[in-house]
This record gives sequence, C-alpha cells and structure tokens, in this order.
Amino acid sequence: MRPLVAEIRLDNLIHNYKLSRSRHGGRALAVVKANAYGHGAAKCAQALADVADGFAVACLEEALELREAGIKRPIVLLEGVFEASELDEVARHGLWPVVQSEEQLQMLLAARPAAPFNVWLKMDSGMHRAGFYPHDYARAYQRLADSANVGDIVKMTHFARADEPELSTTQAQIETFDAATAGLPGAVSIANSAGILSHPRARRDWGRPGIVLYGASPLPEGNHDGDGLKPVMRLATKVFSVRELPAGETIGYGGTWTSDRPTRIGLIACGYADGYPRLASTGSPVAIDGQRSRIIGRVSMDMIMVDLTDLPGAGIGSEVELWGDVVSVNEVAAAAGTISYELLCNVKRAHKRYV
Ligand SMILES: *Cc1c(COP(=O)(O)O)cnc(C)c1O
Repeated sequence: MRPLVAEIRLDNLIHNYKLSRSRHGGRALAVVKANAYGHGAAKCAQALADVADGFAVACLEEALELREAGIKRPIVLLEGVFEASELDEVARHGLWPVVQSEEQLQMLLAARPAAPFNVWLKMDSGMHRAGFYPHDYARAYQRLADSANVGDIVKMTHFARADEPELSTTQAQIETFDAATAGLPGAVSIANSAGILSHPRARRDWGRPGIVLYGASPLPEGNHDGDGLKPVMRLATKVFSVRELPAGETIGYGGTWTSDRPTRIGLIACGYADGYPRLASTGSPVAIDGQRSRIIGRVSMDMIMVDLTDLPGAGIGSEVELWGDVVSVNEVAAAAGTISYELLCNVKRAHKRYV
C-alpha cells in the first residue's frame, strides 16, 4: 500500500468544536462544507452528531449526504438553493436554506411546502459577495415573515476581514448589521472562526465555526499554544528511496535546486496529485521521524524529495509528516502562498484513517 495517510483525529474535532462553542457562547453550527474541509463530511458529522447544535454545508447535495449518514440535527445550506426544484428536498429533509438574493426569496415565496421553511436571511453588511443590502433587508425580512411558507428567520451576515483584527472593517460590518436589523425579531448569526476568536462583539445566538473545528487558526500569527486548538488532520507518508549527491548537482524538474554540499535525499510518496501544493517547493517544512527538515526541489505529481543530510538516522521507512503535529498546516500554506483552508480541502488519493 502506498504509505500516504491522512489520519483524522475525531477526538480533536470534538475538542475544537466544544472550545469554539464555549468561546462564542450560545449555539454553534459545525461548518462541514466541502467534505468537512477535506476531512470527510459524513465521518466528521457523525462524530459531532450528539455534540453539535447543527451543521452547515454549502448546498443541498452536501446536506443529503449528511442525512444519509444519519445526521438528524439542523443543517443550514450556506449558499441557499440554486433552483426552485430543490425546495421539495429542502422541505422533506427539514433543511434550513440561506436566502441571500431576490431570486432565492421569490423561489421560497412561490413554493408550496408541506411545512414552513426555517430560513437564514443574509445581509451584505460590507463584504459585497452575497446578501441583501442593508437598506433592502427589513423589506425582505417582512416579505418572508408575512409568508405562510416561512417559519423562523435567523438574521445573518458574513465578515470579509475578521482575520485582520487590527482593522476597523469588522466593527463597521457589525454596526451596519445591527442598525439594519434593529427591531426585527429572531436569532442572529454573524461570527465565522475569526469572528469567534477575535471579535467578542460578533458573538450572538449562533456561531459558525469552520476552520477552527479542524484545528487551524485563521489568524495571521497562525496557531499558538494559547488558542487551545488541536490539529485534526495529520498527513504523513514514508521515505521509500534514498540517494547521495555530491555538491553541485541539481535535482528534480527544472533543476531548480542545486546541492551546495554532499547531500542525502529521501524520496517520499506524496505529490501535488495528492493535494500537496506545488508552489511549496524548496524550503517548505516537513518532520522526518519527528525532526524538522525541508523539501528540496520541485514538488512533482506523485513524489517529493526531502533533505536527510542532517538526519543520519533517517532512511528508507522513515516517517515524514507533511502537516499535523510538528509542522502546522499554516506553515505549509504560508510556504505555498495560500491558506490552510485550500490545502485541507485539496487532500485526495491519501488513505484516510479515522481515529
Ligand atoms: C465557510 C463559512 C463559514 C466558516 O468559515 P471559517 O472561516 O472556516 O470559520 C461561516 N459562514 C459562512 C457563511 C461560510 O460560508
């Protein structure tokens, strides 16, 4: 068996959920969209089935996967529905759609559901991606509230820059939202992970933690001991070939790296086809039998070269952690010029092992 394994520590997932909910207060939707950020949506939701107040996914297809896996708690569709024909299934499975546009609102009002929909009405408080403008919000709310098709309405918005706590933009979004929802009854949900971690005024009835559930901090300083998060995924493989090179040799595609001394190179089973970022070529950290080292040369499709020169005890069979406990996914993301979310979502072909 190819030795690349993504170990998913479900106890850490439960720990991170409880931690984020207690930091936020009230209730929290466990955001398990995009296959639980690459961790496996059904397995993660099952682990949280009796713990989480509810779940959030992007779309109907993702919600149905959870219902098929036996998940009974509320599920919010963060993008809402894409066509009116989805509303039968939404009603049958008691899903809670976000309503973020006039088109979605009209679909709901025109439906003939057996039971009313609980909806999450989204405001564009400044991100300018989705949602009703503040000056249109109360009217949209009223049209929903007046419809027999609609039960509860949760008022929601989403932050553009909550991971930059020094800026005033999140505070401005909160003020816009509060002003435009004043007097409208119902629960409120505004905080994503970064909102929960660094914006106390964003903590309302429902938190929406995503990336923190998986143990990666969205904040620029990345993970630090004080945040209490525990990484859920540990992506690891093995050295399966070793070679020695004198100084002055290049390795890998493009010859982008040249040895400046006699060098021992380990070849590991992992590449960009597994989701490891190709942009994290020479320099990206790895841990070999628990000791930090680095990638050298370009990441190729199925293989990566790592530097064993200063690790004389390492060789064929040595374990290489790509990210997890010694190397944080945030470090690798930084080396690749991206964010942990993208790396985690992209993991594929690796064997998943749930513990
Ligand atoms: C994805 C998403 C979240 C979770 O975001 P994180 O940054 O992972 O916590 C919360 N709310 C909405 C609307 C989302 O789309």
